[in-house]
Amino acid sequence: MIPLSSASRRMTSSAIREILKVTQQPHVISFAGGLPAPELFPLQEIQAATDSILSTQGREALQYSTTEGHLPLREWIADRAGTTADRVQITSGSQQGLDLVSRVLLDPGDVVLVEQPTYLGALQAMSPYGAQFVEIASDADGIIPEALAEQLERTPATLLYTIPSFQNPTGRTLPLERRRALLEVTRRHGVTVLEDGPYNELRFRGEHLPTLFELAREQADSLDDVHVVHLGSFSKVLAPGLRDAWVQAPRHVIDRLVLAKQGADLHSPTLNQMIVHALVEDVLPQQLERLRETYGHRAGVMASALRRHFPADAQASEPDGGMFCWIELGSGAEEPRTTAGRAIDTGALLDTAVRAGVAYVPGQPFFAHGDGRSTLRLSFTSSTDEQIETGIRTLGEVFAAAGDD
Ligand code: PMP
Repeated sequence: MIPLSSASRRMTSSAIREILKVTQQPHVISFAGGLPAPELFPLQEIQAATDSILSTQGREALQYSTTEGHLPLREWIADRAGTTADRVQITSGSQQGLDLVSRVLLDPGDVVLVEQPTYLGALQAMSPYGAQFVEIASDADGIIPEALAEQLERTPATLLYTIPSFQNPTGRTLPLERRRALLEVTRRHGVTVLEDGPYNELRFRGEHLPTLFELAREQADSLDDVHVVHLGSFSKVLAPGLRDAWVQAPRHVIDRLVLAKQGADLHSPTLNQMIVHALVEDVLPQQLERLRETYGHRAGVMASALRRHFPADAQASEPDGGMFCWIELGSGAEEPRTTAGRAIDTGALLDTAVRAGVAYVPGQPFFAHGDGRSTLRLSFTSSTDEQIETGIRTLGEVFAAAGDD
């Protein structure tokens, strides 16, 4: 037998990717995948940009290029974030950003603070580097700053990983005051903040909020003194298949990320970066409008169906943006039970739901330490109004029947 590394033995499988295999059957209404609505991809615009790039800059687009990424794109990103292009690294999806940042910032055994629940893909990316996850209590407004402060007074930590806007999986958003408090506590305790912001631009309700990076930048003496590393992505606003994303960080971090990326894949595809750059000025703003309108509408249809069809004690998050709604069945109780006294387990009920024609993601895999048996994540982005209505009604019946037995 070929011996494996200890890093490979720390790797974990994504329960969600396994679940998606089961749920991607044509007759199943799926609220499971975190997929942007494919009918909204700006196909024609991407095609036109590709044609134009290949006919005018084809040889540059197809040649090896710099590890840092396509300079005009990095400049555009930097301008919008109030940083400089040499503090921006292009990555192949922000999933690669999570991996590279972990390589550069983490040593085995380091404590990484995470939301409860959090993005499963981040747990997967950080695990091989020996991250020890500690969950910070969160409520409907995200991380509770007092819980964060108490934890840091007990145990030091290297990193806080957070998705402050329209979180995956809960759809929750951290209010401005909590953003400031989180930055203050982490700075005081010397903890780096890893801010993951792929949904930032998908707000369909309420006031725009500054990112943690922007708030930290306002207070820092220089851009290299900011204690926030920010991940951004074009996946949810243009198309995930382009695999185009970025990391903003102080220079000394970027210098190391460049080396890590050289070892990983030399650079992200130049053609894709040029396509994205061709779209950011003229296509992206109208694309964002379409996404916000459609997702806002679908979120509303789902919220209304949930109120009518789900058990009265189920609590649904009411996201102001993003792609997800989070449900806690039997809220109020520590562990909701059926009338027969068994805990409602959304993982065990998935099979019944899929047989009834609807799929969701059970909440448990999003908890670093495996709680959340009675929770689930629903994506409202890629189903029609009719599918949402039918799917939520069916799910409501599945959960009500589980409560009855
Ligand atoms: N972070 C979060 C919070 C996500 O939800 C996702 C995608 N589901 C990613 C990172 C990865 O996105 P990508 O690699 O496509 O940029």
